[in-house]
Amino acid sequence: MIYARLAQLVEHPLDVGRVTGSNPVSRTTSLLDKLGASRCTHYMIILGIETSCDDTALALIETRGSGESFECRVINSLVHSQADLHTTYGGVYPALAKREHGKNIIPLLKKLLEESRLPLRGQTSEGKPLHEEIVETFRADVTSQNAELFEALVQAQFLKNIPSIDRIAVTEGPGLEPALWVGISFTRILSALWNIPVAPINHMEGHIVGSLLNSETPHGTWQKLQESRFPALALLISGGHTELIHIQGIGNYSIIGQTKDDAVGEAFDKTARLLGLPYPGGPHISRLAQEAREENIPSPTPLPRPMIGSNDLNFSFSGLKTAVLYAVRKAEETGPLTEQFKKGLAREFEEAVRETLISKIKAALDTIEVHTLIVGGGVSANTYLTTHISKLAEEYSIPVLLPSRHVSGDNALMIALAGAFQTTTKTPGEIRAHGTKKLGFN
Ligand code: ADP
Ligand code: MG
Repeated sequence: MIYARLAQLVEHPLDVGRVTGSNPVSRTTSLLDKLGASRCTHYMIILGIETSCDDTALALIETRGSGESFECRVINSLVHSQADLHTTYGGVYPALAKREHGKNIIPLLKKLLEESRLPLRGQTSEGKPLHEEIVETFRADVTSQNAELFEALVQAQFLKNIPSIDRIAVTEGPGLEPALWVGISFTRILSALWNIPVAPINHMEGHIVGSLLNSETPHGTWQKLQESRFPALALLISGGHTELIHIQGIGNYSIIGQTKDDAVGEAFDKTARLLGLPYPGGPHISRLAQEAREENIPSPTPLPRPMIGSNDLNFSFSGLKTAVLYAVRKAEETGPLTEQFKKGLAREFEEAVRETLISKIKAALDTIEVHTLIVGGGVSANTYLTTHISKLAEEYSIPVLLPSRHVSGDNALMIALAGAFQTTTKTPGEIRAHGTKKLGFN
C-alpha cells in the first residue's frame, strides 16, 4: 500500500534534493525552476479545492524535491460535474452552481479521504461535536454564503479526524463569485479546524501548471513534470477565458492577448445550443465537425474569422456566435434543421475557431521569443484544434505541452499542483473569492 510509509514521511520529510540553477549552455531557464518548483523544497501533501464554475473538484497530491528534482504524485482526484443540471439553462446558472457545490463538497471530501486512506494527525478538540467553536465562528460567514454547506458541516463528524495534509490550495478566482465562495468558505473552516495553512490559487495558473503533468503517469506514481524551457507562451482556452499569456516565471505573467467578449468555449456552447445540442456543447460540435469532414459535408454558409486581421493579439467570438444565429434562423425558414446542415455548420464553426486561434498564436510567436508553448483549459480537449496548434509549434521548433484529458477541464489536481509552487501561505481570515481575478495581478 502506497501510504504505509506516509506517517513516517510526514514526520521525517524526504531529502529535498539540490536546487539547480539556470542552464549554463542555453540562456533560457528551466521551466520547472522558473515555474517556482525550486521553491517547493519539502515533502508536502496538498489538498486542492476547486469550485469556480460548475465542477466541484477535490484532489490530494504529494510533492517532494525542488528545481529539476521536483516531483509530484497524485493520490486522488475527484470531480463532481453539474453539467447535466445546467443543461436546461444552456449554460451555467450561478445560484444553482453555488447550491450544488454546497451540497456536494462535503460528501466528495469524505469520499476523497476514505479512498486515499491518509494517516491521521489527531482529532479536533475531543468530545465536542465537530469542534463547535470553530464551526460557530464561521456560522455567519458560511450561512450568509451557503446554508446547505453549513448544515452539511454540522453533520460531518468525519471532519473531527485531522488527516496528514500540510497545505490546502483553493481557487480564489477568476470564476463565478457565488460558486468560488463555497470553496473559500469551506477552506476557511477546514483550515481553522485542522490548523492547516492555505495557498489561494488563480484558476488560470492552475490550467497552466496542469498542462505540465505527464499524461501517461498513473496515479500513485512519482513523476517529474514535463521538461521545457522558458520563457513560454500559454494559450488558455476555456468556457470563461481565451487568453495568451507570456510567462517569465511564477507570479510573472503578462496577458498579451484576450477576448474582448465571449470566450471560445462559450462560443462552442452557444453554437451548440443554437443547433439544439446539449450543454456543454464543445464535444458535440467537435463530433459533428469531425463527421462532416469524414462524410465530406461542406459548409452551408461561410462564417467570419473574427479579428483575424487586427494588429493585436486579442480575440472576439461574439460576432461568430451571432453569425451562427443568423445562419440557423435562415435555415429554419425552410423547415427544421437537418443533420447535414448541423454537421456542415459545426465544421465551418470549428474551422473559423481554428483559423482564428492559429493566426493569433502565430502572431504572438512572431512577436515574442518563447521556448515552449503551453495550451490549457477545457477547449484543449478538442484534438482537431490541438493537432493544428501542435503543427504550428513544430514549424517554430518549439515543444507544445497539452493537458491530458483528465486535467483539461476544471479539476483540483491542477490547483493542488499550483499550490506546491506558492512561497507564502495565508490564514483562513485572509482568503476571499475574487471573481474577476487576472493572472499576474495580486
Ligand atoms: P471554465 O474553467 O471556464 O469553466 P473549462 O476549463 O471547464 O471552463 O472548460 C469548459 C469548456 O470547454 C466548455 O465551454 C466546453 O464546451 C469546452 N470543451 C470541452 N471539450 C471540448 C471540445 N472537445 N471541443 C471544444 N470545446 C470543448
Ligand atoms: Mg477552467
